[in-house]
Amino acid sequence: MSLKVCKFGGTSMADGNIIAGVKKIIESDASRRFVVVSAPGKRFSGDIKITDLLYGCFAELKKCGTCKQAFAPIRARFVSIVKELGLDFDIQTVLDETQKRIDEECSEDFTASRGEYLSARVVAEVLGAKFIDAQDVVFFTADGALDGEKSYKAIASAVAGCERAVMPGYYGVDADGKVKTFSRGGSDISGAVVARAVNATLYENWTDVSGFLACDPRIVDSPKRIKSLSYKELRELSYMGANVLHGDSIFPVRRANIPICIKNTFRPDDEGTLILPSNRYVSGGNIVTGVAGKKNFSVIFIEKSHMNSETGFVRKVLSVVEEAGIPIEHIPSGIDTMSIVISSDALEGKLEQIIEGIKTAVQPDNIRVTENVALIATVGHGMSSSVGTSARLFNAIASADINIKMIDQGSSELNIVVGVNDSDYEKCIKAIYSEFFGS
Ligand code: ASP
Repeated sequence: MSLKVCKFGGTSMADGNIIAGVKKIIESDASRRFVVVSAPGKRFSGDIKITDLLYGCFAELKKCGTCKQAFAPIRARFVSIVKELGLDFDIQTVLDETQKRIDEECSEDFTASRGEYLSARVVAEVLGAKFIDAQDVVFFTADGALDGEKSYKAIASAVAGCERAVMPGYYGVDADGKVKTFSRGGSDISGAVVARAVNATLYENWTDVSGFLACDPRIVDSPKRIKSLSYKELRELSYMGANVLHGDSIFPVRRANIPICIKNTFRPDDEGTLILPSNRYVSGGNIVTGVAGKKNFSVIFIEKSHMNSETGFVRKVLSVVEEAGIPIEHIPSGIDTMSIVISSDALEGKLEQIIEGIKTAVQPDNIRVTENVALIATVGHGMSSSVGTSARLFNAIASADINIKMIDQGSSELNIVVGVNDSDYEKCIKAIYSEFFGS
């Protein structure tokens, strides 16, 4: 039997009329039983998301000992949402209590979590559904990771026998019982946790776009929509900057093979994008599924004769970077050369120390740094079985007169990453897109 978990993002919660549309969507399908919501997002460009207003509340609380002033626009927003919905719900009392608790708790995560809390209280009221507080059922371990097993059990028992239930996204509690949030956009993860807990047949993620696009629409005009992709392709694309869905949201559903569907609250009949486990994924015939990228990386190039026969060379180099507490993105290597690609933001203030550390650790013949490098990933399961894909990719880049500074093919043959100058980033994405998708 079909059982859907629906997560509605911030733009789907933006005002009362939109929430009325959400109610329609949920009630049009009896299998849409469990709902996870974000805090109200922007209503128009230039508007401020409730979550951002809440971070402002915390700043004011630290300065003045109360968040009263900064809380006023949040209060006004929820009052008007309840009014637009025509609900007989005493939101003022809930808001008074919330504001008081923010002051008492004096915790950034607690403050930030209240947007989702209030949204869920309203939506539960609208649907006449049970409200389940995430702080009672979503748990983090002492080292800050999601405690999946404990959360799945608690959610399953909280929803038992319940026709419909609503849970706020974005937060849970840490090992000391204090409210803790995921990283920004984390309600997507909360939705996946609920989907796993109730063993849903589908996790619907409702946003304001009709699915994933094959590349960034700010770079290519109306790129094609991706009808379906695998969890792995999604990971690659979201890691490289395609941000429709939080990149970590696949982890809870992946083990249980639950597909995710990205849907548009404002065009509910659009098909959306289906994200499938690799074993259920059938390629739509495209060699390339999507192209995504990020700017602002630094490449440390290290050269030393007979590097390949020197035991422990790579380990020593990587230890230097590890000791500086910096994550590495890629490590392309040759017989006598290796490069380390690192986000320039992460390197800030630490580059000198790392270069000196590497010199001391392995005495390279040559070491140099190239900055302002953009990484562009071309992703698709179809690439591994189709002869000539890389030739087409590199030809397209060469024909656009772009110099490639680095190439890394993931060992899964699922992606090819190229490094180019930041200034060639947009041009390179356009060239790859038009080669594989037509212009
Ligand atoms: N409201 C939170 C944010 O703005 C979480 C979410 O929307 O998923 O990041």
